Amino acid sequence: MAHNDHSAVINARAVARLRAGHVWVYRSDLVQAPKTEPGALVDVRDERKRTFGSAFYSTTSQIALRMLSPQTASAVGPIPELVRSRLVAAWDYRRKIVRESDACRVVFSEADALPGLIVDRYADLVTFQVLTQAFDQPQLRETVLGWIREKLSPACILERVDARIRQLESLAPREDSVVFTRDGESPRTSTEFHMNGVRFRYDAAGGQKTGAFLDQRENYAAAERHARGDALDVFCYQGGFALHLARVCSQVTAVDSSRPALEVAEQNEKLNAAGRKGPEIEWMEANAFDLLKDYSSNGKQYDTIVLDPPAFAKSARNLPTAMRGYKELNLRALKMLRPGGTLVTCSCSYHVEAQLFLEMMASAAADAHRSVRVLERRGAALDHPAVVGIPETDYLKCFIFHVS
Ligand code: SAH
Repeated sequence: MAHNDHSAVINARAVARLRAGHVWVYRSDLVQAPKTEPGALVDVRDERKRTFGSAFYSTTSQIALRMLSPQTASAVGPIPELVRSRLVAAWDYRRKIVRESDACRVVFSEADALPGLIVDRYADLVTFQVLTQAFDQPQLRETVLGWIREKLSPACILERVDARIRQLESLAPREDSVVFTRDGESPRTSTEFHMNGVRFRYDAAGGQKTGAFLDQRENYAAAERHARGDALDVFCYQGGFALHLARVCSQVTAVDSSRPALEVAEQNEKLNAAGRKGPEIEWMEANAFDLLKDYSSNGKQYDTIVLDPPAFAKSARNLPTAMRGYKELNLRALKMLRPGGTLVTCSCSYHVEAQLFLEMMASAAADAHRSVRVLERRGAALDHPAVVGIPETDYLKCFIFHVS
C-alpha cells in the first residue's frame, strides 16, 4: 500500500526512546526508511504496525526522524498551520517568562516542538537558523518569516547559517544574509540590546560578528547577586559576566583568548560607562589554562571567580579528557579564592551531567583542602527550556558555590 511506503518503521530501541518522551529516532534504529522527499512529514510505526504519530524525515542526518505530533500526518492537517500555532505558543511562553531583557531565544527547536528551527530576538533585529531539511522547505521558511514579520515586527530579519549542519542535512550552501527589511529602511545588521539593565552591542555582519550567549542571561544576574570584592571572569567572550560583576565588585579582570571578542567586550563596557561608577574592567588576552596556572602559583587571590569555558566534551568519547580540563580549571580557581569567596562555574557540555560535574568539584575541593557549599544549581535561562524526556535540551549547568 502506498501509505505504508510513506511511513517510517522503527525498531524496539526507538520505540522505547519515544515512550520515554524523546523525539528523535536515529537512522540506525530505522527498520524501513520512508520513500519520500527530504523534510517530509511521515507517519512513524513499529513492525507490529502500532503508530507513534508523525515526524519530519531527514534523508541524510543521523537523526532520521524528529517527532512533530502524536497524531498521524493526515490527522495533523496543513503543516504550516501547526507550525504557526507552535510559534504562537513559543512566543506566549517567552512573554511570560522573560524579564529584564529585550533579547531572548524565541524558538529553541525541539524544546518548542519545532525541531530544526531557532529564532533569536535582539531588540529590533531577529535572527533565525534552519537546522533540518523540513524547515528549509520554501513553504515552511515562508511560514516562519511571515510569522516573525507579523508578530515580532522587526526592523530586519537575518538568516544565520550553520554550514556544517547544512552539509549534514545535504542542504544547498547558503550565506548569512538579511532576508527582510521593514518598509523604507535600509538593511541593518547591528543593534543594541539589554539584559538585566546592561547594554550590549549586536552585530550580525562585518569583520567582528557579535552575538551573545542568551542562555546565560539569568545566570549573569545570579552571579551579580553573589559577587563582591576582587573578581576574575575567565572565558569572558564579549563580557557578559564581567559587565554584571563590574556593577558590584571593586575590581574586575576578564580573560579570553579571542582578541575580537575582547574588542567587542571593550565596546560593550563603553556603552555602559555613562553614569556608572564601578571599576574599569581589565581585559586580558590569554590562554585561560596558562593564566590560571601562573596566577595560582603566584598566590593571586580573588573574592569572586567565574569560569565559563567552551564545551570541552563535544562527544561522550572525549568525556575523560573534558573532565580533566574542568577539574584543572576549578581546582586552580578554588586555590585562588579567599575564604568565603564565590565560584560561579559553568559547563555547556550536554555530556557532562550535573552529578558528574559535582563529583569533579568534590575531587577538586578535596585536592585544594577547601570546603565547598552549593549556593545555587542553575541551568540555562528559561527561554531555553529544558524539556523532561529530551535530555539534550538540558545542556547548560551553572553552579554557584561558597568556598571556605
Ligand atoms: N562567558 C561568556 C561566554 C564564553 S564562550 C559569556 O557569557 O558571554 C567561551 C569563550 O572561551 C570564547 O569567548 C572563547 O574565545 C574562549 N576560549 C576558548 N578557549 C580558550 C582558552 N584556552 N583560553 C581563554 N579563552 C578561551
